[in-house]
Amino acid sequence: MTTASPQAAARALFTDLTGSEPDGVWSSPGRVNLIGEHTDYNDGFVFPFAIEHRTFVALGTRDDAVIRVASTFDTQVVEVAIADLDFPALRETVPEWATYPLGVAWAILQGTDAAPAGVDLAIASDVPVGAGLSSSAAIEGAVASALNDTWGLGLDRVALAKIGRKAENEAVGAPTGIMDQMTSMLGRADAAIFLDCRSFEAEVVDLGFSAAGLELLVIDTQVSHSHSTGGYRERRDSCELGAATMGVPALRDLGVDDLPRAQELLDDVTFRRVRHIVTENQRVLDTVATLRAEGPTAIGDLLVASHASMRDDFEISVAELDTAVEASLAAGAVGARMTGGGFGGAAIALVAHEKVDAVRDAVTAAFAEAGFGAPNIFTVTPSEGARRDA
Ligand code: ADP
Ligand code: MG
Repeated sequence: MTTASPQAAARALFTDLTGSEPDGVWSSPGRVNLIGEHTDYNDGFVFPFAIEHRTFVALGTRDDAVIRVASTFDTQVVEVAIADLDFPALRETVPEWATYPLGVAWAILQGTDAAPAGVDLAIASDVPVGAGLSSSAAIEGAVASALNDTWGLGLDRVALAKIGRKAENEAVGAPTGIMDQMTSMLGRADAAIFLDCRSFEAEVVDLGFSAAGLELLVIDTQVSHSHSTGGYRERRDSCELGAATMGVPALRDLGVDDLPRAQELLDDVTFRRVRHIVTENQRVLDTVATLRAEGPTAIGDLLVASHASMRDDFEISVAELDTAVEASLAAGAVGARMTGGGFGGAAIALVAHEKVDAVRDAVTAAFAEAGFGAPNIFTVTPSEGARRDA
């Protein structure tokens, strides 16, 4: 990563690519999920917030009907005629990273008969990739916003979030839910988004971390994950099986009271997967209510319970994430849990300002002791969603 701001890097890359200035620059943030993991594709509740790390897209229109994408991520520039935007076919011929911006262009044009101008897109980001902070939604949100404005499509933020998910599901081929894209589009400073993933109703809820003297630490284990493979898809399959066996459209439709019956009907593994989703949905509701009634210092136990459920019932944690959570709590964090899809990525810890250094040191020491690679630890601030920057 360069020391230049990602916005300056996107501009510089654009100028390298075209020899001129961009028409505009758009950006969209990564996100941290405070609580509500794997509930999104079960039509349930999530409670994420956008972070200050953002992906920037510098865009300029062209005289022809070609779309060109470049990213500081890779030296290769990828060029496709808009008429040839065709997914999943294109997945075979372009590098994986380019399926994100090109997939968004494809998705946003589906069902329109627009014959849009060609564009050059130059992309740069300071969202850590593959850390569970959704660099994928950040790139999708930035590109979707840029194309929506440039092509005059008039889509609203929820529609753009759906475009991002369509790109990720059908162009990239990663079967993710809508949470990341909604957060990246709808984020607000000092607030989280209480999102109903069935109705797409989104409520902005004040977090008040700084007023309560709290900071949110991200502990990136540097163990990389991939949504396109293995575990994530298996968990989705288990959830679908659980819902079908229980005779409900989605696990969202089950409550904690239904768990005894689920235990009778389901095999042990499927039952534990279901129990995670059902209890996690309840924890999201409890977190929002607790936050409103008692403030952020009171949500710690819910974060800890969420982690235990992901570790023991959903089985998506790894030793590095468990170590990050345990060491944070031992050093005085108010709460901690893994965040994101699991199998690597990051944990979060909610920590009183004066204990941040102690938690950071304790986690670093615990990783060294366990023989793990050094984690990357940094604070994040709840920040605003997609925007035009220039
Ligand atoms: P996460 O969203 O947790 O960071 P994903 O596997 O969902 O991880 O998405 C990461 C992928 O998104 C990268 O491997 C890359 O293909 C693409 N991507 C993210 N940011 C950029 C970027 N700035 N430039 C190009 N591709 C990017
Ligand atoms: Mg992602």
